[in-house]
Amino acid sequence: MFSIKEVFADEDTMKSRLATCEECPKYIKASKQCKVCLCVMPLKTRFAATECPVGKWGRVHPNTDK
Ligand code: SF4
Repeated sequence: MFSIKEVFADEDTMKSRLATCEECPKYIKASKQCKVCLCVMPLKTRFAATECPVGKWGRVHPNTDK
């Protein structure tokens, strides 16, 4: 069973991931989607266990990573 803190990335992580996407040539600004995975990035970046398909940002584990 996962807690909410384990499922979601913290606010700073989400903002940092999204800033990376917004500078990325694979980002579709109009729909806020990634051309590689087709995910909607303001949603995908909120989940701790997600990662960029080309390695620009990775998964986090808020309760265990220090
Ligand atoms: S998930 Fe990765 S490849 Fe996709 S838009 Fe973001 S930084 Fe670019």
